[in-house]
Amino acid sequence: MLNYYKTYKGTKHSLFLPCFILSSILFMTACVEIQSNNINTTSSSSDTIEKLPAKAKNVILFIGDGMGISTITAARIFDGQSKGMKGEEHALAFDTFDNLALIKTYNTNAQVPDSAGTATAIMSGYKANIGAINVRPGQKYEGCGDIPAIQTLTDRTLSAGKSVGIVTTARITHATPAAMFAHADNRDWESDNEVPKEAKEAGCKSIAQQMVDSEADIIMGGGSSKFSERQLETLKNNFVFTDNNADMKNFKGGKLRALFSKSHMSFEVDRAKTKQPSLAEMTETAIKNLETNQKGYVLMVEAGRIDHAHHGTNAYRALTDAQALNEAVIIAKEIADEETLIMVTADHSHVFTMAGYPVRGNPILGLVKTIDQITGLPSENYDKALDGKPYTTLGYHNGPNLRINNDKPLTNEIVQDKNYRQQTAIPMNYETHAGEDVALFGQGPGSENIRGVMEQNEISNVINIALGFD
Ligand SMILES: [Zn+2]
Repeated sequence: MLNYYKTYKGTKHSLFLPCFILSSILFMTACVEIQSNNINTTSSSSDTIEKLPAKAKNVILFIGDGMGISTITAARIFDGQSKGMKGEEHALAFDTFDNLALIKTYNTNAQVPDSAGTATAIMSGYKANIGAINVRPGQKYEGCGDIPAIQTLTDRTLSAGKSVGIVTTARITHATPAAMFAHADNRDWESDNEVPKEAKEAGCKSIAQQMVDSEADIIMGGGSSKFSERQLETLKNNFVFTDNNADMKNFKGGKLRALFSKSHMSFEVDRAKTKQPSLAEMTETAIKNLETNQKGYVLMVEAGRIDHAHHGTNAYRALTDAQALNEAVIIAKEIADEETLIMVTADHSHVFTMAGYPVRGNPILGLVKTIDQITGLPSENYDKALDGKPYTTLGYHNGPNLRINNDKPLTNEIVQDKNYRQQTAIPMNYETHAGEDVALFGQGPGSENIRGVMEQNEISNVINIALGFD
């Protein structure tokens, strides 16, 4: 039975084997649970197995919100081209990680997911409904009692004596960071004003209040407008509180709460550097302080605004924020110690495509030039679509920038501008998430459990096994 647990990945592909061979009633129960409900695949059998020693002391989990595989490929080329290369041959910091898996991102009730359900799966080990944070499907107000059924990654980590860091460029009350410390039936319960009366009467608290109550060591991001005056005063009285880059860099010791903006922090290209830190700077401060705990730490770092740029079909900002995530991973690789499992993933993808037959080294944001079939060299002119107009390599399946017949032809100057919104096929006010698998890259102790095609909630299992959590 121990082998069943030790060869964790093997179990996923041979679940039926132990179910049929082993006669233990207890174990059969665990097998049935795994087959009937693809949720929390290890905890259901945890009573039947010995706890294994930890492989890693620390875990750093990077989440590129909406950083699907097409975003990674385009960001790799963009980053390479910004360094003078053709781009395709370039490697991002996590491209060289030892282990890789595809992750199935669906929510329990949605084929194409949102960040609340996916973040719950990644951090807490339970797939959840779209829009729900750390509550199980159909369990109304489950997170509002004294002992919620789903334990957050923050609580699991703190109870092991380790430290916790939560870093994001989005509002700290936004779905992904909230899944580290909060329970909410609805991700929109960010401020006190957004929690319905009936939910308040049932004991539900806003995500902002749950952040104020959190015992995590370091919490940094945007979103001060979601906090009441009283909540901000409590943060200032009970923690080291800052709202600027210089103070953050000088932080040493204690518990840090940083809110750098009223809503989301700026996109990387728009960032005022004295006011707001980069994702890499926040990551560096977090690691240097968390590592003073000899028992280790868990740090979640979210590049939250890749998603927002994609929703506006603005590839430039999506790629520059993905580049900022890459810089944060570079810092983590440099300064985190050898006992650290580093993972990079996305919560979900976007309907973002790289298409046409652009020549090697064509500017990734630019108009498509193809190979001239007669000369074998890059064509002198841009390729044209059926409307007789040039087109870009990057585009979106849906979103706000539907071009119409009498629009002027695009120029390279137009499409490479930071404010350009790529073309879309289906008109919508906002571009949507996509439902295909995302990638999970892993390096360090415990990363060997990252391989094959995995359910998203198994990422939580990878963390638990690496740190020796039950
Ligand atoms: Zn989104």
